Amino acid sequence: MGARVFFSPASASEPAEDLARKAERLFLELGFEERIGEESFVALKTHFGEKHNKGYIQPAWLTRVVDRLRRRSRRVFFTDTNTLYTGPRANAVEHVRLAWDHGFSADRVVVPLLIADGLIGRDSEEVKVGLSRVKTAKLASGIVHADFLVCFSHITGHIIAGVGAAVKNLGMGCASRAGKLEQHSDVHPTVKAKACSNCGICLDYCSAGAIVQGEGSVRIQDDRCIGCGECLVVCKSGAIKMRWDEDAVRLQEKMAEYAYAVHSLFGERAAYLNFALNITKDCDCMARAQKPVVDDIGLLASSDPLALDKASIDLVMERSGGDVFRKGYDIDWSVQLNHGSRIGLGSLDYELVIRD
Ligand code: SF4
Ligand code: SF4
Repeated sequence: MGARVFFSPASASEPAEDLARKAERLFLELGFEERIGEESFVALKTHFGEKHNKGYIQPAWLTRVVDRLRRRSRRVFFTDTNTLYTGPRANAVEHVRLAWDHGFSADRVVVPLLIADGLIGRDSEEVKVGLSRVKTAKLASGIVHADFLVCFSHITGHIIAGVGAAVKNLGMGCASRAGKLEQHSDVHPTVKAKACSNCGICLDYCSAGAIVQGEGSVRIQDDRCIGCGECLVVCKSGAIKMRWDEDAVRLQEKMAEYAYAVHSLFGERAAYLNFALNITKDCDCMARAQKPVVDDIGLLASSDPLALDKASIDLVMERSGGDVFRKGYDIDWSVQLNHGSRIGLGSLDYELVIRD
């Protein structure tokens, strides 16, 4: 028998209090809180949402889980890490301000908010994993030094990984800037000169200064590109392409190995909750509101991040009647799951336990 994944059908249109109760009920199934001592550092890893984004997990949905944890320990905190790309989430000060704007303020969530890799993403710790693509993971120190981890992940499509859920939240989301760079280092987009209108918009979004304007089109300098994927998203002409087959495979395998590094640190001291609500083509790093690509499904919880993602994706496939993620980006997202299974991140077999 595989890992147990608890599922509660839900919709983002339900009152926030109802969703908070469902999240609490699923969380309690994991039998997690009894192990927490009053001086335990409990990291609540989430994504606070990019500016103008609306799809991120709402703090009001988490209040009951947070209240339970607060009664156990005075060292509970929300956390995320800084982004590779430029913008308000690239440094801790603006990142925290944006999180406040999105409702993660002390008066509403009652626990502090720390950016786990510090002011500019350099607070990094090395964790040995010795896997095929990653020998030593570079993780955010605020995650490494926590005693417990509760990982709240919003399942969405993703421009490079195909799908973003618990594995991505762990692997990419808990990495320091150096760790994110390592995972993106194989991603090398190119410009199709004929399709490029030379508008220059991508230059403004490239934090690495890797794009240069020439006669009639732009060009990407491979040696400067950090593989963040921003240019792919902002180019409205579809002139920027990735080698999806190679780049997306390597990135997903590295991401799964980074996820393994984090999951191995915590073992039974980690709990994972996925929110299959507001499921969009792109992730919450997109600085705009997005329309859902499938009806809301609900909340899922497990101690096994891989089983959790597999169950979440299976439910999305069932609800959409096909592979809605591949309709967005033609990327084989199963790489992260299959590689995760090979390296022992978790199980692809699961038992779905429904809790209405
Ligand atoms: S955004 Fe697209 S069309 Fe505009 S310069 Fe960049 S690659 Fe060319
Ligand atoms: S060229 Fe594109 S992928 Fe490379 S660093 Fe610039 S925005 Fe990111």
